[in-house]
Amino acid sequence: MTTAVFSGLSQEQTYPTYKNEPWYRLPQVTRMPRTATVIGAGLAGCSTAYALAQRGIQVTVVDSGNYPASNASGIHQLALRPRLFKTASALAEFYLQSFLFAASQFRLLGTEPSRDKFWHPCGVIQLSTALNKRNKLSSAAVESLYGSEIVELLEKKQASEIAGTLIAEDGLHFQLGGWVDSPGLCKRYLDSARIRFVKDCCIERIEKSSSANGQWQAHPKNLSISTFQSDIIVLANSYNASCFPIVESIPLRTVRGQASYTDSSEASIKLRTVLCGQRSLFPAVDSTQTISASYRQEIDEARSKNDDQENLNALAADFPQFSTLKVSSSGIGIRCNTPDFKPVIGMAPNFEKMIEEYAHLKLDAGKVFSNPGHYHNGLYLNLAHGSNGLATAPLAGETLASMICGEVSPISTEALANLSATRFLIRDLKKQRS
Ligand SMILES: Cc1cc2nc3c(=O)[nH]c(=O)nc-3n(C[C@H](O)[C@H](O)[C@H](O)COP(=O)(O)OP(=O)(O)OC[C@H]3O[C@@H](n4cnc5c(N)ncnc54)[C@H](O)[C@@H]3O)c2cc1C
Repeated sequence: MTTAVFSGLSQEQTYPTYKNEPWYRLPQVTRMPRTATVIGAGLAGCSTAYALAQRGIQVTVVDSGNYPASNASGIHQLALRPRLFKTASALAEFYLQSFLFAASQFRLLGTEPSRDKFWHPCGVIQLSTALNKRNKLSSAAVESLYGSEIVELLEKKQASEIAGTLIAEDGLHFQLGGWVDSPGLCKRYLDSARIRFVKDCCIERIEKSSSANGQWQAHPKNLSISTFQSDIIVLANSYNASCFPIVESIPLRTVRGQASYTDSSEASIKLRTVLCGQRSLFPAVDSTQTISASYRQEIDEARSKNDDQENLNALAADFPQFSTLKVSSSGIGIRCNTPDFKPVIGMAPNFEKMIEEYAHLKLDAGKVFSNPGHYHNGLYLNLAHGSNGLATAPLAGETLASMICGEVSPISTEALANLSATRFLIRDLKKQRS
């Protein structure tokens, strides 16, 4: 019998400190910030604002759209499922923790009696053949790493019974997963004490004030809106963060996605779980269902009929019973990724000073340093959630808030290093690319 490494229960593990990687060491928090400006009201910005407000910080969330969740987080139905790995690592643990944290937070916030229900814990079934295309995973690897409460291997008959529709292949069942009305979740985060939301406000420039209070300033493009002053700024504006010169060296990429909304058919309305193959089909809400999603390396926000057709074709290839669905409208969003497909979470590195400090890495990648990294104290990043933002953004927000307030981190130091923007500049120095 194999023993699952990640059982969903806490286990004692020791992680290396930053002894040999001092560039990840952050300045100490000397006083709790009282005010924060969060730029971007998608899942990353709203979850961070929520976590900060829970700690007593007054938060202003600013977005260029005229409602929260106006870009990628605005897709009506997003699936919560964990990103799976072949072997145990700090990163694999971060993705699992993220999934569990999100499921637990959504259960608490998403089913409050007096509020709109945004969380639908119906489970997710994924065809085994749809597993991680870049890095194929075997069912045996999945089973040895994850407990059955996280993912269960199902034969096609059992998978069909749970999903309420015919599935012609074996599948994976994420029973703690489900789907979220993402704009509803963002609104719920913002609807908290100490959070103010400012819409229709594009931030054009950020800087640290040279005055004694050392506050951060966010300057709106629209000059009739006053500058936002606060102790800290969190950049949660996805790929648009690259417009700010202070963080332009972070390699952010864009991947356009289109979800197709369809009226339910006799076959599709029976679906009880989120069902994922080459495309995902979501259970019906008022006889409407989402087919998600296309991938393109561009940032054209216009609706593409071609993408809708591709979504329909790819869904029907795995599940022919849905071939009669017709698309009524679409949801378009631009995802933000990094070259290593990991998010960017943490304090913003001072690229110029770091490159100077650690320049010797270009000559000797193994050189040992003792001086800590250089950071823009008070400027934080919550970016690049790719195709997993529903799972990763809530724990990212919680992690940032704990970092900002000088608390013990909810994720390991090794995971923090994996997610820090500093990883790119150190990698480039070692490869002599800076
Ligand atoms: C079609 C599609 C389907 C998807 N399906 C899933 C799924 O099933 N499960 C899943 O986990 N993930 C899914 N994703 C990915 C998920 O949507 C993203 O990971 C997540 O929404 C990213 O959230 P974010 O807050 O980082 O970015 P965004 O939601 O893009 O938010 C960024 C915000 O910043 C604002 N902004 C930008 N620049 C400025 C500025 N200068 N000033 C002020 N505001 C600014 C924008 O208006 C925007 O509201 C999907 C994505 C797409 C496109």
